[in-house]
Amino acid sequence: MTRQLEPMPTDWRRALAVVAHPDDLEYGCAAAVAGWTDEGREVAYLLVTRGEAGIDTIAPSACAPLREREQRASAEAVGVSSVEFLDHRDGVIEYGTALRRDIAAAVRRHRPELLITLNHRDTWGAVAWNTPDHRAVGRATLDAAGDAGNRWIFPELGLEPWDGVRWVAVAGTDRPTHAVDATPGFERSVRSLLAHRTYIEVLTDEDPEAYCRTFLAGTTGAAAERFGGRPAVAFEVFPR
Ligand SMILES: [Zn+2]
Repeated sequence: MTRQLEPMPTDWRRALAVVAHPDDLEYGCAAAVAGWTDEGREVAYLLVTRGEAGIDTIAPSACAPLREREQRASAEAVGVSSVEFLDHRDGVIEYGTALRRDIAAAVRRHRPELLITLNHRDTWGAVAWNTPDHRAVGRATLDAAGDAGNRWIFPELGLEPWDGVRWVAVAGTDRPTHAVDATPGFERSVRSLLAHRTYIEVLTDEDPEAYCRTFLAGTTGAAAERFGGRPAVAFEVFPR
């Protein structure tokens, strides 16, 4: 029998989600975020790029502000008002101390107990290769949880250390350990993904809403067999 996923920890108030691109959170996590903000928890988003290299038919200079607008609307659909962008370059994010420093700075400012990020591993499972941006941001976020708590790492930021991150939860890995019931936030997660309308209209000929609904029902439904039959958002949780 496959091992069941544990319910996500609930004894926290603030989360910070750190991902590479606009839409990374909407392709999986947003239903969980909607449930959390309903419960009165604070969730903030940190986007490492503006996703300016994400649409083949739109040049980066026009794409960046458009994707930023769509990301802010996506966040609003699930109760998130704090959305920040770091302006690393889409497609060529470099893993390294500059990225760790930027993420640690955000952790010190937001002081979250829970950090969320996207798959840091080489593949999505089997032979589906992950992108270099996701790997870099996922790994740097896992690292930044510790960096943020050490006052002698990145002292030039001039920010008080924050050693209060208790878990880093990674979405989209093939080794999930925990899950959140997706049902209460599901409809808003569809709205949230649908807010990336320009991106989706270029990606598929399907009706955008039908595309979003089918995609999210598929991913949350896949986790259900390991979560008591309930559609769920799954995470690989690294406790600290
Ligand atoms: Zn992405």
